[in-house]
Amino acid sequence: MQSLKGIPASEGIAIGPAFVYHPVAISVERHVVADTEAELARFHAAVERSKEQLVQVQREAQATVGSNTAAIFEAHRMFLEDPTLLDAIEERIRGGQNAEVALADGINLFAAMLAALDDSYLRERAADVHDVGQRVLRVLAGVEEKALSSIHTPAIVVAQDLTPSDTAQMNKELVLGFCTASGGTTSHTAILARMIGLPAIVGAGDQVLQIQQGETIILDGTSGEAILAPDDATLSIYREHRVAWVAAREAAKGAAQLPAVTRDGHRFEIVANIGDAESAKSALEFGAEGVGLLRTEFLFLDRAAMPSEEEQYRAYLEVAKVMGKRPVIVRTLDIGGDKPVPYLNLGQEANPFLGWRAIRISLAQPELFKTQLRAILRAGAGYNLKIMLPMIATLSEIKQARRLLDEARQELSERRIEFAESIELGIMVEIPSAAITSDLLAPEVDFFSIGTNDLTQYTLACDRTNTRVAGLYDHLHPCILRLIRTVIENGHRFGKWVGVCGEMAGDLDAIPVLVGLGLDEFSMSAATIPATKSLIRQLDLGAMRELAEQVLNVATAEQVRSLVRAAATNPRA
Ligand code: PEP
Ligand code: MG
Repeated sequence: MQSLKGIPASEGIAIGPAFVYHPVAISVERHVVADTEAELARFHAAVERSKEQLVQVQREAQATVGSNTAAIFEAHRMFLEDPTLLDAIEERIRGGQNAEVALADGINLFAAMLAALDDSYLRERAADVHDVGQRVLRVLAGVEEKALSSIHTPAIVVAQDLTPSDTAQMNKELVLGFCTASGGTTSHTAILARMIGLPAIVGAGDQVLQIQQGETIILDGTSGEAILAPDDATLSIYREHRVAWVAAREAAKGAAQLPAVTRDGHRFEIVANIGDAESAKSALEFGAEGVGLLRTEFLFLDRAAMPSEEEQYRAYLEVAKVMGKRPVIVRTLDIGGDKPVPYLNLGQEANPFLGWRAIRISLAQPELFKTQLRAILRAGAGYNLKIMLPMIATLSEIKQARRLLDEARQELSERRIEFAESIELGIMVEIPSAAITSDLLAPEVDFFSIGTNDLTQYTLACDRTNTRVAGLYDHLHPCILRLIRTVIENGHRFGKWVGVCGEMAGDLDAIPVLVGLGLDEFSMSAATIPATKSLIRQLDLGAMRELAEQVLNVATAEQVRSLVRAAATNPRA
């Protein structure tokens, strides 16, 4: 029996045989070709075949993991149309190299060029270029793609890391969990695991690759521990844990369609953070009462050019149709900082989180912003869409955005296109200036949604992506709770509802406090909705108000946590 420690990426217990996934590496032999025209034709045929495969993979991915992930394959196809890459390969073939060597050299050069760029987004695309290169090599070599689709019995997937190409074709019904050597909590594997609710451990180190095919593993996605070749006693303990975990999840899911009403009869709105229509459907199954945050940035990432008004309109409409009459809050473009978009030429900045991002880009590029606003207004006709502005720091930004919204309406009227005449406009409160002056902003908006992920990083001056300061980053710190109280009080004073759409909304230690502070709406990852609703149903609003008073007056996040856990109504106490 051996145990490995990794990063807990998605909670739950999985027990089963390992499916160790090693993508097939194709060895490339060098030889001189005499008929370079025939070799060029062979290369072009392989590129065309690869592009056909990518169309197919994209279609399959759309059905299994949704259109955002599927869009990555469109980017892969574009690499195969990039003249810089194709010219470099063709020139080598004309010089007498065989297609495999010319391809491998061309891909390495192109990937190295991307990897050397300052732009972290483009640097990460180097892995995609290698992914595409391997695909064309496989076609040239006539080798079948060995994908995770070859899993035919339930198994825990073990790998160095998993790319979107790997997971797109996987049968999710048969995968019990993931265990990878590399990756962090925001890696593709981790995000996918949380999205489909499978236990996962990432970043467990290269020992993971020593795991034998078929070896039994216990995966504890909550603690981040993987136990290899467990003895019978350990197995039976974890089997019980798994039964309890599955039962708790199913029980919560079963009751997830019921409203979140406290024991003393106060109802709270529980909605989901989503990225597209696919995730909207799964959110409904988890009991979402609407969408509190539609992250439109996904539509703009992993592609070569901006989506048109038409494409955006169709994407928003698809989500609206899934949600019917339920509310859907569409956040306008929130890019920059940790979400770069190469074709917008955002440039390098010393402090990207404090720089040109989100609403700042939208206001500086009114055509880009109005294109998105027109798409939302059009999709809103007959549905309950609302618009939310990210990263608002000042009142004048709201006023400018309103003016551009009026212009967008005017333009649609002139084009005689149907749109939502009256659409609510709210803001994300995620910069301390907005929270502190929320009494001045409230009259200008229809709602506030507090973005605690950013509010925490800006208030504690603590980069949310920097592991060295991760110990300081805590949304339960009393400074954040006090800002939240201010925003709720100011919102309510002007008759505006207030929500939270940061990770805090689904944190079981934070929910009792947020209930006590009088928050109206909780927006979170769909999988956390059942547990959130079930917790709220066990709370008493009166008692939570007292708890909120208490926690606002202690000095540390740890003290807040212990007070919450000590509150008798918290099932974790
Ligand atoms: C937030 O900042 O809390 C938020 C929900 O937005 P994002 O995580 O996209 O910055
Ligand atoms: Mg944010």
